[in-house]
Amino acid sequence: MALDGTVLEGRGLLVRTGANGTNASNRDYLAICLLIGPDQTPTTAMVEAVRELIGVVQHYQPLATEIIGHRDIKATSCPGDDAYDLVRQSAFQPYTNVNPTPPPVTLASRVEALEADVAALKRW
Ligand SMILES: [Zn+2]
Repeated sequence: MALDGTVLEGRGLLVRTGANGTNASNRDYLAICLLIGPDQTPTTAMVEAVRELIGVVQHYQPLATEIIGHRDIKATSCPGDDAYDLVRQSAFQPYTNVNPTPPPVTLASRVEALEADVAALKRW
């Protein structure tokens, strides 16, 4: 992820990462690399692009809900203190409209759907 929000694809969304530092973490986590130095702060464009990307990932992998910093799984200063503060503040949580929750099924909506089915059958 570039500072201007440009997304550069590494191995690909459906390919196991090799970036996390351990076999277990490569199995359990995807990797999104912020192209910043340890003393740089992610830009708003970068944070927004990461949020959007995580939303896409979660659309295809709904169980991928935990967002952590590299230092949470390996002895490293990555992703830098400012980016890690953003991780801890949930700044990279995706927008919820990427994978909207379906409306609740109510008795009234089920009756309405059944009446529509019956009406369709009566036309035969
Ligand atoms: Zn890292």
